[in-house]
Amino acid sequence: MIDIFSGLSTLFIFVLGLAALAIVVLFFIDRYQTADTVRRNYPVIGRMRYILSDLGEFFRQYFFAMDREEMPFNRAQRDWVYDAAKHESTNVAFGSTRNLEPVGTPIFVNCPWPTLEEDAVEAAPMRIGDGAARIPYDAPSLFNISGMSYGAISVPAVRALSNGAAMAKCWMNTGEGGLAPYHLEGGCDIVFQIGTAKYGVRDEDGKLSDDKLREVASHEQVRMFEIKLSQGAKPGKGGILPATKVNAEIAKIRGIPEGEDSISPNRHPEIGSNAELLDMIAHIREVTGKPVGIKTVIGAYGWIEELFEEINARGQESAPDFITVDGGDGGTGAAPLPLIDNVGLTLREALPMLVDLRDAGGLKDRIRIVASGKLVTPSEVAWALCAGADFVISARGFMFALGCIQAMKCNKNTCPTGITTHDPALQRGLDPANKAVRVANFVEQMRKEVGVIAHSCGVPEPRRLKRYHVRLVCPDGRSRPLDELWPPVRPEGQVAA
Ligand code: SF4
Repeated sequence: MIDIFSGLSTLFIFVLGLAALAIVVLFFIDRYQTADTVRRNYPVIGRMRYILSDLGEFFRQYFFAMDREEMPFNRAQRDWVYDAAKHESTNVAFGSTRNLEPVGTPIFVNCPWPTLEEDAVEAAPMRIGDGAARIPYDAPSLFNISGMSYGAISVPAVRALSNGAAMAKCWMNTGEGGLAPYHLEGGCDIVFQIGTAKYGVRDEDGKLSDDKLREVASHEQVRMFEIKLSQGAKPGKGGILPATKVNAEIAKIRGIPEGEDSISPNRHPEIGSNAELLDMIAHIREVTGKPVGIKTVIGAYGWIEELFEEINARGQESAPDFITVDGGDGGTGAAPLPLIDNVGLTLREALPMLVDLRDAGGLKDRIRIVASGKLVTPSEVAWALCAGADFVISARGFMFALGCIQAMKCNKNTCPTGITTHDPALQRGLDPANKAVRVANFVEQMRKEVGVIAHSCGVPEPRRLKRYHVRLVCPDGRSRPLDELWPPVRPEGQVAA
């Protein structure tokens, strides 16, 4: 026994000595380096500043931030998605914790005679590409999964989304990273996104390959194609997949070298005008036979008016079958801060503007509008429908359904929840079967609660929501109906009755 105690005390003194030695070494390193002022003036303890600053990012959401404080998504928003995904009650007690006074807060106008439950109906499938594509798509769900590339997200994440989308009967967008077998696995409807690098449909020179397009379109599950002009995280900049994530399989699917940074051009090299855009849409629609749309963030908008003029000159069948409008305030993709923060209009402004331009161009029945950008709770989705969206999509909402804790390390291959990492040890925690059910629950609860808002406003289904059903709080403290702030328009610019 005495031997054990004496051994332990020797070990203790040895460890203490090592620690003291490490502090002395760090002291001299810090004191005589010239790059960092704080460490030079306060050797060793100055390092605590950086450690605590890093840890603060993780602990803030648990201990310090209030329910409605964090960005990009606060705890109340995340908790709604978590509860919906787990099929737990989304009810709360003792009143709203939301401050209803900030400018822009949406307030829906409840009707004295809400729709009776027996009169309520589901939103019907909506046709996309009618009269233009050989195989139009009757999209069954108004809420769908936005683009997240395989490569940016992991195999179990793609599997869970694919299976969950099939259960909930919604579509899943591939993102620009090509079509992986895991997208097809669940049997859901798929929108194939074509980014500027044409991943998955490129030839050896990086140009669009018609043979590969036909091959992708041969999958019945692939219902539509989307040409991505820009995305919320980085309008004017191409996608970035760091070399650590470009393994052999991802390289093969994308048609790029393994182990090298995968950087997309900041624009489609062959699309530099509205005419070239319409030519490309017509070409892909002709080769694939399926509806073709575009995805864009709106900043300058004169080009959209000109696009609609050019469509009317060519004939309405030349139009994109849908336009996905993305808010300019970021998304799942990694991007430089100035682009996330200050480039591109927010969806609040861009969506009603695009709807009005489309309607003024007489293309209301021809082009479907898909809204994207921080729409993760029923009130945000209902606002988008009031503003004129035909469909709503979300990426980050589905990341929360998969278990994302908003650690915001998506570009580092160290995602603690296995969603955006290819490290098998971290992926282990993400069970695709379990998370697929959560994905489906999230979609179903979203459709249900958007329906509840619609019924409260006195309409039987969500797509009957109009601009006069929502009011926005204005700088003078009063709320005004959205149709006063954005009067809906008819062709030739007449204001609708
Ligand atoms: S947990 Fe963090 S790193 Fe993983 S997906 Fe969510 S935000 Fe990205």
